[in-house]
Amino acid sequence: MSDIQAREAAVFMQTGRRMPVTLVRGEGTRVWDDAGQSYLDFVAGIAVNSLGHAHAGLVDVIAEQARTLIHVSNIFYTEPQIELAELLVRHSALDRVYFVNSGAEANEAAIKLARKWGIQNRNGAYEIIATTNGFHGRTMATVSATGTPRYREPFGPPLPGFVFVPYDDVQAIREATTERTAAVMVEPLQGEGGVNVPASDYLRQVRAWCDEQGLLLVLDEVQTGIGRTGTLFAYEQAGVEPDIMTLAKGIAGGVPLGAVLAKERASVFEPGDHGSTFSGNPLATAAGAYVVKQLLDGGVLENARERGEQLERGLASLEDRFPGVTGQRGAGLLRGLELAAEHSADIVNRARERGLLLNPVRPDVVRFMPPLTVTAEEIDEALEILAGVLAELPDGER
Ligand SMILES: *Cc1c(COP(=O)(O)O)cnc(C)c1O
Repeated sequence: MSDIQAREAAVFMQTGRRMPVTLVRGEGTRVWDDAGQSYLDFVAGIAVNSLGHAHAGLVDVIAEQARTLIHVSNIFYTEPQIELAELLVRHSALDRVYFVNSGAEANEAAIKLARKWGIQNRNGAYEIIATTNGFHGRTMATVSATGTPRYREPFGPPLPGFVFVPYDDVQAIREATTERTAAVMVEPLQGEGGVNVPASDYLRQVRAWCDEQGLLLVLDEVQTGIGRTGTLFAYEQAGVEPDIMTLAKGIAGGVPLGAVLAKERASVFEPGDHGSTFSGNPLATAAGAYVVKQLLDGGVLENARERGEQLERGLASLEDRFPGVTGQRGAGLLRGLELAAEHSADIVNRARERGLLLNPVRPDVVRFMPPLTVTAEEIDEALEILAGVLAELPDGER
């Protein structure tokens, strides 16, 4: 065991498994470990490092903002926060923004909004229909909204008011709707659940049902938003508009920041209803404004779309070459490679030894989420490493 692993084991709460790698530095799509070995980073902090590592423009904005004003309370106005809010409102279908510090907190705010809206507008209704295999965060309210029982069962009674239905099943949503229902909360594409892509008309049908019944549609775009799927928001590709949307992960390129957005009619917070000390502080929102501008004006969104298509073609060709690869799915630069056997962890370990970082999101799915600035050469290099890994697997596994 390396020194850092022993030190970690002695003092750090053991909440998850780590790879046996200590990363010390990054540049673009590449990171380096403490032994000087470099890796192509197709994890990108779980879809967080939108502009890659040590992006010069982002570094300058963060450094300049740190020199100027890192944090003041929200009892005062600050310019970067309002600039990012204006950018998000201008380029989305939503009207108002509140900033938080993570995806879970964005969803906490969305849940509070939806419940208050239902209590006021639907005769006390506060239930939210969510999906099995969904993921909305690790706080008590968001694990209560997360359809994976093992995430919530050790912690006693969950928050009441969540009903689970299978993902990609609009009929199940219809059947679960009662007079107690206030909202439907889904991901446009399930990220942590395994890069699960619904039928192309799923969100449109969910939207139509919400309209018919007078329910709010809450889209959790914490993973899919901010260019990850090739458009600024994934809902654009589905041809629907949410009433409430949450963002986090990639929004500030690695600085912790989340956001909840709402249409005017769902924007029911009043003074005193919500708040957070760090909420949208100048450092985080200056970084966020820079990232969003790079996506829109710096060609990053276009790159994400083109590199996403390249990755899709490359993964499809692995499917043609290796019987152990049964398919690929996803959108933009959020993709999963489907395996016949449950050995994604083994493939990910072998790829790491060859200098490529990937994520085994499910035992039979490997997830790809490189920076949105990834180059064509880097996609080719990653595909080549992966082909080498698959080719070296024992007969019957590749
Ligand atoms: C990661 C994620 C979250 C939780 O975000 P945190 O910042 O880890 O709290 C919520 N929803 C989705 C869809 C996510 O991918």
